[in-house]
Amino acid sequence: MTEGAGAILQRDGLTYAVVTRIPAGIVTPEDLEKIAKTARKYRVPVLKITGGQRIALVGLEPGDVQKVIDELGSLAKPETAPCVKFVQACLGTDACRFGNQDSITLARAADERFKDKTFPAKVKIGISGCPRCCGESRTRDIGIMGTNRGWTVLFGGNSGTRPRLADIIARNLTAADALDCAERLLEYYRARAKPHERTARFMERVGMETLKSDLLTLLPYIPVTKVN
Ligand code: SF4
Repeated sequence: MTEGAGAILQRDGLTYAVVTRIPAGIVTPEDLEKIAKTARKYRVPVLKITGGQRIALVGLEPGDVQKVIDELGSLAKPETAPCVKFVQACLGTDACRFGNQDSITLARAADERFKDKTFPAKVKIGISGCPRCCGESRTRDIGIMGTNRGWTVLFGGNSGTRPRLADIIARNLTAADALDCAERLLEYYRARAKPHERTARFMERVGMETLKSDLLTLLPYIPVTKVN
């Protein structure tokens, strides 16, 4: 079992971790039962809820990795190329009194749209139902944040060792236009980024002015005045 087969080699250099795919951080009792049953069966020593609202099954023996992936089925997210690592979401209008927009439904739609795509480097997506930004939209590669006038789309954010606040690309969009805007941004990034270049570094290199001029053709439905 190698990292290329979709599991992550651990710091002991011997065991692996498999991470689940849990769009918007929403799980059913059946999902949790399947994860628990798999963890018991393969004596997984550590189950970790990650910062991206996923569950990592950590400490797998190499010979068990593929079996665990198979057992988890659609819950498993083996990563064999840079891709969308996760789409996280806050509670949004489903459960939060501050919510302006339905972050969970949009996060599920974003996961569905981008889950099979590959990119020059990993992409993280954060969706928040209001500007309080519990979905960490300002520090994700793609951030989508609700206001009382629609959705704001952000691009090029990152936390990590060189944090960067994402640039606001467009405001007051419908959910469909916000997803379309995100897709156009990711296609733009995929076509121009260097291998392993995250969106934050890409934006520092390309610059907002270039992006803005290209956006005139990329995002014709967004008036120029809405681009910061
Ligand atoms: S971002 Fe807003 S809607 Fe989402 S959980 Fe935080 S306060 Fe609630």
